[in-house]
Amino acid sequence: MGKLLVVGSINMDIVSTVSQFPLPGETIASVRTDFFPGGKGANQAVAAARAGADCGMIGAVGDDSFAAALLAALQQDGIATEQILRKPGSSGFAIITVNEEGENHIVLTAGANGQLTAEDAAAGAGNGADVFAVLLQNEIPWDTNFAVMSSAHSSGARVFYNPAPARAFPDHVFPLLHTLIMNETEAAVITGLAVNDEHSAKASAEWALDKGVEEVIITLGAKGCFYLNKQGQAAAVSAFKVKPVDTTAAGDTFFGAYAAASADGLSAEDALTFAAAAAALAVTKQGAQASIPNKADIEAFLQ
Ligand code: ATP
Repeated sequence: MGKLLVVGSINMDIVSTVSQFPLPGETIASVRTDFFPGGKGANQAVAAARAGADCGMIGAVGDDSFAAALLAALQQDGIATEQILRKPGSSGFAIITVNEEGENHIVLTAGANGQLTAEDAAAGAGNGADVFAVLLQNEIPWDTNFAVMSSAHSSGARVFYNPAPARAFPDHVFPLLHTLIMNETEAAVITGLAVNDEHSAKASAEWALDKGVEEVIITLGAKGCFYLNKQGQAAAVSAFKVKPVDTTAAGDTFFGAYAAASADGLSAEDALTFAAAAAALAVTKQGAQASIPNKADIEAFLQ
């Protein structure tokens, strides 16, 4: 099995449950407050590692009190953290308030994630001949992402890109990508085509393939996902029927599990089924990293 390298964000999510959101100028007491390790990069690394991948991470934490807990959370899942840098100032963190209806307000501070430079990341991403794929998202500076894409591509590693939060990118980036994985919102922002079902997902995937990507996956929440590659192989994989409790990190779980299964040599269709099972299990549990299943759970679910 080839290695996976996630280059991305590492955050502390500070989640306060409130009976109702405060009005401007108002101070309220929380019902409870919890601290959860998060960030799209870290979540995807955890998903990949629990799904069985040999996974390392390049990223940055601050010199604050969150840093040790953030690194420990990754190490607990066997993720290699030697290439995670310490930057002066705070780690990335999100202040999240959730009301009784389950709606949330989120204020994200990039912290150290915003200081991860192209030089920091590209050196590590380009030097691993045994790296099967590099996984990227949009919570570190764009120049850093682009440098990693370029060096990984030229070193022969696959680039798996999940452009979340959604942001369009220039045409010359597409040929650097092996796998472009987007939800409906991201697909609409990037391809300019509304996506809400298999038919519109196909049109959006074709648009991206025309630009030079090897394979496109569009996830459609409880409607499943659509896959199309350069050779014209298509697959529509339904979501597993489960009782959703909390869909946070469904996308990150799907992406990490798909990458792990691909690195393990599974066909695209089998990897998609494995990823859909992992994501279905994640939505049956509360939380982000806390809800991400391990390989044994995924395989048992698929029996
Ligand atoms: P999020 O931002 O919540 O992490 P996302 O928008 O990136 O998620 P989705 O398209 O919502 O990603 O979901 C990814 C995959 O997770 C889907 O393709 C599906 O396989 C699975 N999934 C999502 N919601 C459900 C659900 N309610 N029941 C079963 N599977 C689900």
